[in-house]
Amino acid sequence: MPELPEVETMRRGILEIEGAVVVAAERTACSKRPIAITPRIDRLNKRVKGQKILRVDRLGKRVVVVMENLDRLIFEPRMTGLVLIADPPSVEHLRFRLTLKKSPVKQVLFWDRRGLGNVSLLSDEQYQEKLTSGKLGPDALAIAPSEFAETFSKRQREIKVALLDQSAVAGVGNLYASEILHLAGVHPQARCNRLSKIQYQRIHDRMVEVLEIAIEHEGSTLSDGTYRNALNDPGGYQNQHRVYDRAGEKCPTCKKDSIQRIVQCQRSTFFCKKCQKKR
Ligand SMILES: [Zn+2]
Repeated sequence: MPELPEVETMRRGILEIEGAVVVAAERTACSKRPIAITPRIDRLNKRVKGQKILRVDRLGKRVVVVMENLDRLIFEPRMTGLVLIADPPSVEHLRFRLTLKKSPVKQVLFWDRRGLGNVSLLSDEQYQEKLTSGKLGPDALAIAPSEFAETFSKRQREIKVALLDQSAVAGVGNLYASEILHLAGVHPQARCNRLSKIQYQRIHDRMVEVLEIAIEHEGSTLSDGTYRNALNDPGGYQNQHRVYDRAGEKCPTCKKDSIQRIVQCQRSTFFCKKCQKKR
């Protein structure tokens, strides 16, 4: 958490900053263990000060603010980070502020309860390197079905675990992986190299569908309430979850079996063994 839909919602929530000019970047007063900011905040501030914001992109699960000189200011929320333009959920976990002028929005904030997220500024060259390093695969909303099948069918891992590997496809995390595999009717422990072309087509189609519908609903705010959009409002896709965090409940798809929870690589997976047969 946050995954592609939540980060895309944050991106869309700050689009009004396109065309703004940066006045300053600063760490906000915070008594918690400081988050990682690279380069050091004084150097970062020096480089962004006076820069015009060209556009706001997304790279996997990161929000990318592109400056006129093509430097990229990157917000990576990781577990509990939020990119906000409204007042944050709490002042004590506020970590970073970008002050702007010539814009209807006067500031962008980075808030992070657990503090595992980070803010970084990369030059165009460093950013291109990051894109081509092989650590980040194509975006889940951009990858073609044929490339998707080719990438995954070479792997021997369990499909649920493989979907979380950002070097294969970027953007899918633990929550949406369970939802996607449920709707595709694929068992989460099925080995990648054992799945058919038709199954890969189904997983790809459902992946795009789930992520797009989740974006329409502005992401999923779970029971801990942490995730919020840029205006500090909750998302709505949690009401559409079919299996995630529903262990023991009746499966809404077959209405016969109940949802099971298993652990794969220390992460919870939810599925229905009637709808998602292993074979
Ligand atoms: Zn079922």
